[in-house]
Amino acid sequence: MSNETSFPKNLLSARNLKATSTRIKVLQLIQDYQSAMPYSKIQLELNQTDRITLYRTIQTLLEKGIIHKALSNNEDTYYALCGTTCSTKSHDHKHAHFKCTQCDSVSCVPLSQEVAISLPHFKVDRVNIHLTGLCESCYV
Ligand SMILES: [Zn+2]
Ligand SMILES: [Zn+2]
Ligand SMILES: [Zn+2]
Repeated sequence: MSNETSFPKNLLSARNLKATSTRIKVLQLIQDYQSAMPYSKIQLELNQTDRITLYRTIQTLLEKGIIHKALSNNEDTYYALCGTTCSTKSHDHKHAHFKCTQCDSVSCVPLSQEVAISLPHFKVDRVNIHLTGLCESCYV
């Protein structure tokens, strides 16, 4: 086992998932990508993999609390790795998603303060925060 692949393999085995080559490749790509990775780019990198296998791989990783959708718009869906707070039962993210209007990168950004929103007569389970603006590298 080389160092290169041990990270995805460990993640998969922690979730009782077989370390298939597609799963490993997808996780490695997302890990190496500096921000959340658009599905179109994952597809491009794995153009040897058939679309259904790739789609199912993504679904499995989502369900098992390994990756999450950072953003989804008309053009693309962005995926990012989950932290240790997620499990096979649920996702638990206390961070916001930020899309840069200049370079189009999408990042997970930790919140300095937890955001709590309460609505009368509604039960809020989860708050999704999508922010747009200029990212660190574009904001000079
Ligand atoms: Zn998650
Ligand atoms: Zn930017
Ligand atoms: Zn995120």
